[in-house]
Amino acid sequence: MATSHQFPAGSDAFPHNHLLGIAGLQPWEILFLLKEAEQWVDLNRKSSKHANRLDGLTVINAFFENSTRTLLSFEIAGKRMGADVVNMHAAQSSIKKGETLIDTAVTLNAMKADAIVIRHGSSGAVQLIADKVDCPVLNAGDGRHEHPTQALLDALTIQRRKGDISGLTITICGDVMHSRVARSNIYCLTTLGAKVRVCAPAPLLPVALDRMSVEVFTDFDRALAGSDVVMMLRLQSERMNGDFIPSPREYHHLYGLTKERLQLADADALVMHPGPMNRGVEIDSDVADDVDRSTITEQVEMGVAVRMACLDILTRRSRGVEGWA
Ligand code: ASP
Repeated sequence: MATSHQFPAGSDAFPHNHLLGIAGLQPWEILFLLKEAEQWVDLNRKSSKHANRLDGLTVINAFFENSTRTLLSFEIAGKRMGADVVNMHAAQSSIKKGETLIDTAVTLNAMKADAIVIRHGSSGAVQLIADKVDCPVLNAGDGRHEHPTQALLDALTIQRRKGDISGLTITICGDVMHSRVARSNIYCLTTLGAKVRVCAPAPLLPVALDRMSVEVFTDFDRALAGSDVVMMLRLQSERMNGDFIPSPREYHHLYGLTKERLQLADADALVMHPGPMNRGVEIDSDVADDVDRSTITEQVEMGVAVRMACLDILTRRSRGVEGWA
């Protein structure tokens, strides 16, 4: 467990109704979520995985964009906590019939959901829904904006492997421009005191990085030197408007994580990727599958624990848990 940030006296309740992003969270709030998630890791490794804290509650996963691991992870998390979990896929919803997002939100609210998990292609859509409903809303990724539970599961993975995140050098490399994972991780890791390096070809570096406490690189080899953690990102072609790279082959040559290139990082450097991976583009298979260095499957495992913790914490007020009213 990290030691560099103390929980302030009397702060035993997470002071937010929703989890829409990592931006603005205090270090102790992030550490509190991680500490709460830690307890579910052990349960998830047992053969019987049931906790009944959310018995009788309804969790709606409203996914307006494709997802494999995040949707499954939230579904498993809700079910392990005892909730009734309902998945709504945009392709089968009235969105296709022209319903506005606000009307959809009002409809979900009328069904008395106790928590709504939303993934949406537009940055800010999740905030819009949170403003219209009475229950906690969890952002499962909105456009290029934020993906807070991904950042929390990444932080939990790093913390369990490396201890205190404060002082670590963490390099995030890839399509930073279109990545909500990069943005949430930058907020999370810098808030916890890590030195964050961001590396991408110039067209994939957003201007907003100037306002974030990160070191920016276009040379991956230089960024890797001395890194304790290397986090690779997919080229998000579905969000690209035009060509940002000459070719995947050239991109791999300059920005792909190969076994040789990984040697430039710290000898114990961890390799991370949020998935889905494009093997042979941003990461080579022998690195992704290296059990000593790659934490990719562990990240997926931590995702369930983090989402169990978030669902539990955000419903404590409505469940009347003492100290949370
Ligand atoms: N799964 C992550 C996301 O939803 C990363 C990715 O798609 O590349 O943002």
